[in-house]
Amino acid sequence: MKIMKFGGTSVGKPERMYQVKDLVTTGDEPTIVVLSALSGTTNALVGIGDALSAGDKSLAKHRIDELHAHYKQFCSELFRSDMAMKEGEKIIQEHFEFLAILLKISFNDAISKDILAQGELLSTKLFYTLLQELQIDAVFLPALDYMSIDEYSEPELPKIREKLSALLAKYPEKKLFVTQGYICKNHRNEVDNLKRGGSDYTASLIGAAISASVVEIWTDIDGMHNNDPRIVDKTRPIAHLSFDEAAELAYFGAKILHPASIWPAQQFNIPVKLLNTMQPEALGTTITANVQERGGVKALAAKDGITAIKIKSSRMLLAYGFLRKVFDVFEKYRTSIDMITTSEVAISLTIDDISHLEEIKLELDKFGTVEIDHNMAIICIVGNLIMEQQGVLQDIMGSLSEIPLRMVSYGGSKHNVSVLVDAAYKNQALQSLNEGLFDF
Ligand code: ASP
Ligand code: MG
Repeated sequence: MKIMKFGGTSVGKPERMYQVKDLVTTGDEPTIVVLSALSGTTNALVGIGDALSAGDKSLAKHRIDELHAHYKQFCSELFRSDMAMKEGEKIIQEHFEFLAILLKISFNDAISKDILAQGELLSTKLFYTLLQELQIDAVFLPALDYMSIDEYSEPELPKIREKLSALLAKYPEKKLFVTQGYICKNHRNEVDNLKRGGSDYTASLIGAAISASVVEIWTDIDGMHNNDPRIVDKTRPIAHLSFDEAAELAYFGAKILHPASIWPAQQFNIPVKLLNTMQPEALGTTITANVQERGGVKALAAKDGITAIKIKSSRMLLAYGFLRKVFDVFEKYRTSIDMITTSEVAISLTIDDISHLEEIKLELDKFGTVEIDHNMAIICIVGNLIMEQQGVLQDIMGSLSEIPLRMVSYGGSKHNVSVLVDAAYKNQALQSLNEGLFDF
């Protein structure tokens, strides 16, 4: 069985939905199709939730009406038969009536999750109706019946496996299943989600749960590129990456794949392919456990919105346990650390979630002098066996000679060098590294 996940742009226009239909009906292998919401929908739903939470019902209503009109138009272009059109209108009606009811009741966090779930519910129901209209045999698999997270918002893979296998076992003859990305139930049995961009995560969790042959992530770009094509002049897709390399790139800003989606595939050794709906014949990027080819730097990615924290203390000198105390503070506030560098009297580290920065700073103040720099960017340089390649570090540093570096992390793993720069230098750093490290 294989998993094919389609992102918002791949289902965002009626004609694209037809392309998706073609793609999911080509092979012989049984397939689970995971869909995101139509492009723009989740952002619109966030906007509706924001308006409701601010108590601005008329703005919320305006936003609901706008989205409703978009779906009516979409539906009128998607279906050809009266029957399908009626079914489509019924689906839209049902979900927008639900949103309208929210204008009348008091808002809370659980409701905001319900709002966000509407996008994937709509896209999958409309797509499933299209398949029915075209007389393509398929089964609708509601994600809320099997996808769940625990009280720490972590997916419960064994439970997911058990429930999903039981559901699939009901349809041994069926070849095509349609399900929602992103949405799930939480430990209170409320509707919840796997965070923004989480449909990739759904696909890889399903892949891991049923030991799929492959997880295909279909988007609007032909694979993971060696650098950010939105920023840098010349970039090219990378044919093959290891899970570790892909994880670094995804985490550090290659927007094509949700970073959390790597671990389930890696743990259960399921290949992941990044493919382009608009150009299905392109090779894309294949991510597997072992990548044989050698060769230095493969790709760069950058993540901004980074905050650097420096803790300077003479008490650190010759002391043990200092790092533990510092890390305990971050653990207490469930804030993950990305980069770390140390000297004998200071430690610098970076975080991207600053929701508890004030509390963290207050506690760190007890250990020494704390300095905080906002608006930094991590540039992550990824490759195979970077350290065994002669001259790679020189090439990296040479390319960055004009740019002030706040931190450098080298040796943490075999396939990564990271540098921290002021975000104002991010684009320049990516462009200079592109010119210094790749031949075009
Ligand atoms: N629709 C959700 C979002 O926009 C999930 C996804 O597309 O992956 O974040
Ligand atoms: Mg995405």
